[in-house]
Amino acid sequence: MSFTVCNILGVPINNVNLNEAIGLVLLYLEKNEKKIIFTPNPEFIINAINDREFMEILNKSDLNIADGIGVVIGARMLGYNIRERVPGFDLVQGVFSKIKNTDKTVYFLGASEETITTAKEMMEKKYKGIKIVGTHNGYFKDEEGNIIIEKINELNPDLLLVGLGSPRQEKWIYNNKDKLNVKVMIGVGGSFDVMSGNVKRAPKIFIKLNLEWFYRLITQPTRFKRMLKLPLFIIEVLKYKIKGGKNEGNIKE
Ligand code: UDP
Repeated sequence: MSFTVCNILGVPINNVNLNEAIGLVLLYLEKNEKKIIFTPNPEFIINAINDREFMEILNKSDLNIADGIGVVIGARMLGYNIRERVPGFDLVQGVFSKIKNTDKTVYFLGASEETITTAKEMMEKKYKGIKIVGTHNGYFKDEEGNIIIEKINELNPDLLLVGLGSPRQEKWIYNNKDKLNVKVMIGVGGSFDVMSGNVKRAPKIFIKLNLEWFYRLITQPTRFKRMLKLPLFIIEVLKYKIKGGKNEGNIKE
């Protein structure tokens, strides 16, 4: 399968829709290649411009989905015919619905102990037959990482979801990928909070109108400062365009 890669201010974004992304994860779960999936939004891209290590890591993943309408708008401004936003949460839910009642196993790493335990229970209720073989909270010290990796490897999960906040989760996945015995790793941000029911996803109408960011802004006003990176991102895209940056022509994978 080959998908167009859009270069958004140095960050590659794969032009896949939700179903294609789910299909790719299912394909990766059949291989033994340690695939890495990230979910860049405008905040990631602004952070990556100022953090060389993060930028390099985002360039080394196997699949980056456009998790944010800002990324879709930015890509279109740069001349890419990107089709739709692919929220990481929807990708994971889509994969769960396909792997329930199969032999594929999942491990959850991230969020508070209470949240991660509830997230597991809620997902087991929603996707009967899903095999979530273990969880660990995301509030551990760097030196505890190896013990957690050993615990994960003992359970030998196929899919590892990591929600430690960005860029910590992307750096953790990349820096530990060689030690981890898993087939697919996905950085899932705050998805465990939503899976547990602690944080509500926006009503469908907001999602449909691409206003999920606005819903999050009014329901979680503490995110205001982080959200300022959205207009900043659009300004950076405009500056890139004015300087003559252009669509480098649909690079094939
Ligand atoms: N988190 C964690 N360890 C940390 C910091 C954060 O496990 O050291 C978790 C936090 O509990 C939350 C997630 O990481 O579940 C990050 O959420 P954030 O709001 O940054 O992600 P987004 O919603 O932007 O994807």
